[in-house]
Amino acid sequence: MSTTICYFSGTGNSLIVARDIAEKTNGTLVPIPSLIEKERIVIESEVIGIVFPVYHAILDGLPLIIKRFVKKMDNLNSKYIFVVCTCQGFSRLTINKVSEIIKSRGGQLSAGFTIPMPNNKKPPKIERQQKLYNNWKNKLEIIYQYINARKKGRFENTIFYNILLAPFGSRLRNKTINLLNNLANTNDCQLESLIPLTDRSFFVDESCNGCGICAKVCPVSDIKIINNKPVWQNHCESCLACINWCPNGAIKGSIKLNEKIPVRYHYPDVKLSDMFLRD
Ligand code: SF4
Ligand code: SF4
Repeated sequence: MSTTICYFSGTGNSLIVARDIAEKTNGTLVPIPSLIEKERIVIESEVIGIVFPVYHAILDGLPLIIKRFVKKMDNLNSKYIFVVCTCQGFSRLTINKVSEIIKSRGGQLSAGFTIPMPNNKKPPKIERQQKLYNNWKNKLEIIYQYINARKKGRFENTIFYNILLAPFGSRLRNKTINLLNNLANTNDCQLESLIPLTDRSFFVDESCNGCGICAKVCPVSDIKIINNKPVWQNHCESCLACINWCPNGAIKGSIKLNEKIPVRYHYPDVKLSDMFLRD
């Protein structure tokens, strides 16, 4: 049974999850940005895993690059397809959305897993982070068993959604759109045109030395270094890799970062070089 694990990751949570699953299943690990420019994406393996973070869960949570990726996938009939969402615990709408797109491509989502991980905007205290990492190691075995048996199932926090979020759904959605509008400096409500512009809120302070690391870690080449400073190109995915991997903490923006934790967040076992997807 051949397995391919496709992943998208800005600060390493989804990379580590994808890498662990690939190791456990003897699967091949493929970064989604390396495939995204193709017109049609065909993965020959019988088992396909797609691992990615959830952004703005109350909208639909699916990163734009994952929407584009799945919409280009072909020959999905008869494959065992599963998704793993790294998030702060809520992925119901995201799994629904990706399932819908997979169906429109002739496939079927067999299993969807939710893996709570630290938020890369406001990471929790180190002890809490460690707890989340330990929980992931325990869940890996369950996911492996599902894949091996080609079992169907979904793991998502429906109680959290039904009791806490659903009653306030429209208010929370409006609030999130307003926040994105502020970042993007626009009144657009379409996520496809709004999210790419959220990089308008980014700027650098005087500690930027022009090293270019932000441009190298950007999974969608949204940053050019011009006159020794990053210039954003308005096709951002909102992954925050540039902000979190800048060695000087030089990138600021209207995104509220946790200034009490001076070092930005990334999964501790992931190295900067793991994030370089291009030469
Ligand atoms: S990584 Fe930071 S210091 Fe380096 S060019 Fe980008 S913003 Fe400047
Ligand atoms: S510009 Fe920054 S936040 Fe936007 S996609 Fe690139 S790395 Fe991610």
